[in-house]
Formats: sequence, structure tokens, C-alpha cells
Amino acid sequence: MEDEIGVGWAEGVHPQDFQRCMDLYMRAFGRRERFEMEYRLLRADGAWRWILDRGVPRTTPFGEFAGYVGSCVDITEHKLLENELRQRVKDRDDFLSIASHELKTPLTTMQFAIDAVIRAIRDRPEEAFRSGKMLAAAQRAAGQTVRLSVLVEELLDVSRLASSPLTLDRTRADLSSVAREVLARVADAAAAAGCAVELDAPDPVTGMWDLRRIERALANLVSNALKYGGEKPVVVTVEARDGCARLIVEDQGIGIPRERQAAIFGRFERAVSERHYGGLGLGLWISRQCVLALGGEIRFESEEGKGTKFFVDLPFSAAAESSGLLTTG
Ligand code: ADP
Repeated sequence: MEDEIGVGWAEGVHPQDFQRCMDLYMRAFGRRERFEMEYRLLRADGAWRWILDRGVPRTTPFGEFAGYVGSCVDITEHKLLENELRQRVKDRDDFLSIASHELKTPLTTMQFAIDAVIRAIRDRPEEAFRSGKMLAAAQRAAGQTVRLSVLVEELLDVSRLASSPLTLDRTRADLSSVAREVLARVADAAAAAGCAVELDAPDPVTGMWDLRRIERALANLVSNALKYGGEKPVVVTVEARDGCARLIVEDQGIGIPRERQAAIFGRFERAVSERHYGGLGLGLWISRQCVLALGGEIRFESEEGKGTKFFVDLPFSAAAESSGLLTTG
């Protein structure tokens, strides 16, 4: 108690909070006013704890100031939660600005293409038809709608995956055929990226699969391989191995810097500069959610400048689903 009298209480206050608290306290003391402040205080075990310190002036029956009655409440947990929430709000704001930018880019290109069509129809429609300009502009616009719908689909997936447990919808199917279909769907994108895509799936790999989730995971991995693949060949392999179905997507592109490798499955995490590569940082997170829901695993090997190889292992049985969160539809 003796240590606490006067300004003794301030000895354990964190150096970064000390001056602010002293100023506030001395001002309140001088005016005989109540005060309230938050600071970090050294606990007996050497840990810094956040304290909410409130003081109310006390007066004698004769109206004289008789010091403060106060309370110090440990609000460390509350403070940690508050910081986490603040960080999440910031992440959301950053994400919204990236998402708006990503959505705006195809919209602008589409607007240019539509303007070109309108001008052509107004000025010289026959010439525009004959020269193919009108068709080219319409195709540019159509290409951008595909890009927009991929982005919107990713955004929808994020809110769906974040808000509700996944309901699986399993049907009997062959993964090799699924991979073939996914690759057929990205053929135009592969041609545009200048990557030859090869499918190595000699045998059927049949099981009870949730096709939508597997297609989603695979399509994300393949489109990343095209995007970051440096115009080099991409190979997709489907095989049965050690009681699991294994999908491999391999590229020979830019690779992932070692120091960023641990983060990239996180939501909104990216390991490339926004200026060079568009994207929301959601594809891998979505892929991972899909694979985990099926009781599977996803991992990768990557070397900067040499390429990246993603592995997805899916168990044939549904046993791994009983993680409590998941329900089988
Ligand atoms: P996005 O591609 O929209 O940024 P993803 O979640 O799909 O988001 O990927 C996260 C990050 O992982 C990417 O920004 C990129 O840095 C890295 N990455 C993913 N796939 C590859 C790949 N095949 N090669 C190199 N880097 C990749």
C-alpha cells in the first residue's frame, strides 16, 4: 500500500504510456476532477497487463479534497479482442478496395468494347460488320463478362464458406473425367496465357466425390498455374495412390518466394505484386476449404523462378468427414 501512495502507482506503468497518464492524472488532480485512463501496467509476474484505471475525488464532510477513490480493472483480454477486431475491420476495408479494383478493371474494358460497338453501329455498321471489328469488340466484352463472373463467384464462395458449414453432395464419379472437363473449360484461358496444358490421367479414379467442390479446387489451381505459369507448360495428373486419389497441378512459372509460402492459403493472402498480377487472394483459400471439407489435404512444393507443384490428396472413404463441423448431404 505504501508503494502505491502519491504517484507510487505510476512506477509500474509502461514507459510508452507513462507521460500520457501522468499528464492526465496531474491535470485531474489539480482540478480535483474524476479521471479515466487506460495503460499497460507491470504485474508481479513480469507480464504487461492493460488496465482501466478510474478515479473519483473524495471530499471530507467539510468539503475538502481527500484524495481519490479508484478502481483498476485488468482489461487485457478485452483489449486483445478489440485489437483483433480492429485488424479485421482493416483487413475487410483493404479487401473491399482490392475487390472493387479487381471488378472495375474488366468493367472498364467491357465499357470500351461496348462503346466501340455503339460507335460502329452508329457510324459505319456495314463496314464494321464486314471487317470483323464489331465481332471482335463483342468478343472482348464477352471475355470480360467471364472474368467478372469468376470474380463474383469467388466472392460468393467466400461468404458462403465463411458463414455456413459445408454440406457435401457426393456422387459416384471418375476424377479423371472431372479433370478432363475442368481443363476443357479453361482451354481458352490456357490459349490466352500461352500455356500448353497436358492431362496425365491414364486410368479412371472412381469414388464418391462432391463434384462441385473438387471442380472448384482444381479449377482454381489450374487457373493459378496459367496465371503464374510464365507461358510454360502446365501438367495436371490424376492418380490413385496409398488409398487416396491424388491430383497434381504442376507449372514451371514464377514460383512462390520461400518467406511467403506459409501464408498463401490464408484468406486475401497474396505473394505477388498487385501491379503485375490481378487477383483477390481467395483462390487457394477456397480450394483448401473445399479439400478439407472432403477430408483431404492440400500442399505444394515451390521454388522461386522454377515453378510450383500443388498436391491434393482425397480419401476414398468419407470417414474423415466426421470432424463435427461437416455434414454429409
Ligand atoms: P490470387 O491468385 O487471386 O492472388 P490465390 O489465393 O489463388 O489468389 O493465390 C494466393 C497467392 O499464391 C497468389 O497471389 C500467388 O502469389 C501465389 N500462387 C498461387 N498459385 C501459384 C502458382 N501456381 N505459382 C506461383 N504463385 C502462386
